[in-house]
Order: sequence, then C-alpha cells, then structure tokens
Amino acid sequence: MNRCFNCKKESTEIILDLGESPIANNLETDLDESKNAKKFPLSLRKCKTSCNHIQIGNIIDQKEIFSDYFYMPSFSKTLTKHLQEISSDLNKRFGIEKESLIIDIGSNDGTFLESTRQYTNKILGIDPAKNLATIANNKGINTLNSFFTNDLAKEIREKYGKAKFIVSTNTFAHTPEINDFVQGVKNLISNEGVIIIEIHYLGSMVNDNSFDTIYHEHFSYWSLENLNNLFKRYDLNIFDASIIPVHHGQLRIYISKNKNLKKTKSFKKILEIEKDEDLIGNKLNSFCKNVNKIKKELVDLLEKISNEGKKVNGYGAPAKASTLINFIGENNLEYIYDRSELKQGKFIPGTSIQIKNPDEIKKDKPDYIFLFAWNFTNEIIDDLKLNYNFKGKIIIPIPNLKIITI
Ligand SMILES: [Zn+2]
Repeated sequence: MNRCFNCKKESTEIILDLGESPIANNLETDLDESKNAKKFPLSLRKCKTSCNHIQIGNIIDQKEIFSDYFYMPSFSKTLTKHLQEISSDLNKRFGIEKESLIIDIGSNDGTFLESTRQYTNKILGIDPAKNLATIANNKGINTLNSFFTNDLAKEIREKYGKAKFIVSTNTFAHTPEINDFVQGVKNLISNEGVIIIEIHYLGSMVNDNSFDTIYHEHFSYWSLENLNNLFKRYDLNIFDASIIPVHHGQLRIYISKNKNLKKTKSFKKILEIEKDEDLIGNKLNSFCKNVNKIKKELVDLLEKISNEGKKVNGYGAPAKASTLINFIGENNLEYIYDRSELKQGKFIPGTSIQIKNPDEIKKDKPDYIFLFAWNFTNEIIDDLKLNYNFKGKIIIPIPNLKIITI
C-alpha cells in the first residue's frame, strides 16, 4: 500500500489520517445499508523520494467508485457556464475548425461537448459511468462507456484519428494509473494539438483547509511542480497554467507536443509561488496539523447548537460532505438538502442523514443550515433567500468557520 502511483517505488508515508470513511459518492437508498456501509481507511500519503508525489492512502477498485455516478455538472449553473466557457476559450485562442476532433475524457453527461457542437461535429466523450454515458448518448453526444487507458487511446486513434483537442476536467486525479493516462493522451493528441486538464489543486486545498476534498476517488493531489515533472518525462510541454475559481480554485493546465509554444507568465508565476511557499514541504505539513483543530471547532459548535435545542440541517450533498461528516461525526445533523433529484431520498454513506428536496426547508424551518457545498456559498445563499424563504443562520465550515445570518 505504500507504492507510489507516480514513480512506482515502495516509498510513500502517511502524512494525514482522516480515520475511516465509506466511498463518498455511493449514496445508499436504504437506511440500514447506509449505516452499515463498508468503511475504508482514509489518509494522505507522500512519496519520500525526490518525486514528492501526494496520493490517497488506500486504493479502492475504480469500478466500485465510478460505475454508477451521481455527480453531474449540469445541476449547477456555475459549472455548466464554466464548461461552456472552456469551449469558447479554446475557439478564441486556438481556433476550433469543422474537422477538429475534440475528445472529453470523463465527459460525464456530455455538458462540455454539447457546448462545442456549434464549432464541430467531430466530438467524442469517454466516461466509465453507465448512467451518465446513457444520458449523454441520448442527447446525441457520442460517448464511449469506458475508463480511459492507453489501450483505449490506441483504439480511438485507429477509428477516429488524432485529436486536435483533448479536454479532461476533474478526471485525471481519478486514476492511480497516472503513467498509462499520460501515455494515452500523448498517443491521441496531434502534433499541434492542445490538451487541457483541470484538476483539483493541492495549493488550493492547502490554502483553504479543504481537507473535505480528500476522498477515495481522488487518487492524487497535484502541485504544478509535480505535474510539470510528470509531463516532462513524457516529452510533453505544459505551456500555460492558471488557477480558476471553480471548485474553490482548480488548476487548469495547457499541454502540447509543440515545444515552440512559449511558457506563459501565469505558468511561471504559479511555479514560483509554490517554491517560495514550500507548498509540498512546510506548507503541506501545517495544513495536516490544522485539520484536527478544525474538527474540534465544528464538533463544539454542533454541540452548542444541540444544547440550545436548535435545529440544524445541511445544504449540498457533494462527495466532500461525506468526508466531512464521517470525519466529524453525525452529531445532531438530521437532513441535508440538495437540488439533485438523483440524490434525494438517499443517505449520506455511513450515516442516517437523509438527502431531501430543498423545497422542504419551508416546512422544516431549521435554525441553522450547515453548508457542505461551501464552494458555492453565494449561489446557495441566493437560492435560500429567493427560492426557499430561509431566514436563520448559515454555517460555512471551510476555509475558516464562519456563521452568517440571513
Ligand atoms: Zn514517488
């Protein structure tokens, strides 16, 4: 279990222990099954060689995690808009021509590819979740229901040719087979093509104290420095990088085989900051120490609310809600509201907390709402005020505990 996904040596060590947690996205329909959901150790490991790779402590079979998937960007206006902007950005910057093949790895319900149809019909999605691939294919977005591997990349190249653009948002960290993935995109991209990867960024996690983004489906936790070393090994050139506000600071990188593309200022700046701050050294170490302090603050607050006889329910049931709840305990949380119909009626794995339609807020009248989807704070507060007439206190747990009254 101490084998590094990146350099493949037996050289990793635990740096943060979050106890045990079930698979975060496997929402249960049955209360007993939810309470008895199988839990796995959840921790973060770091490679002790100069590779410095940061990864999850325990590997769970990807098939268990991704075959049926409830996360869909189309449920959030912010995310849908974000994906649409990637395609207009690609077109402006590099030009999408009618014959340009665009491939989306981890294409989910096809939201991104849908926004590229105005430029080209040569689009292909790849997603391992059967339910999502079906939704996308029903919308007319050609989607292969499969994991992305180097073998699949070769098959696609035979059938469709090389891609002008490969886009992969929130997927690259979802595989322990890092080297196979990079070899696959290298085989599939044309010489002048551009690969865009958006990924959960280690720098944001550390800056925001967002330990709740550690869960079993996130296999790797990347700094730009580590990514740069990885792609260099495959003779691929990261020429641009930026930190974008989605998911509270994702890292977007642009990669090409073309060495003539100059590295941007933004790319150099992020690397420089990481080195100055000693991101994968001291800064990461203090983050790990902070996590237990945050847990105590949250448990104390929930206990105080319970002693006052006040009611607290949650809002937003993303995977990170599962990490957070399983780490701090259920306490007095009874329900979590979420707009996704796929999630409603189900339970946060490992708990008896049921997910409800937010329309119920008007009836339940909780005194406090604990915001698990804290990265969408503004969108949710607007919704709570305008659509659900909520008046009360909102607990924002991360980056720093904050209570606001609306
Ligand atoms: Zn390593």
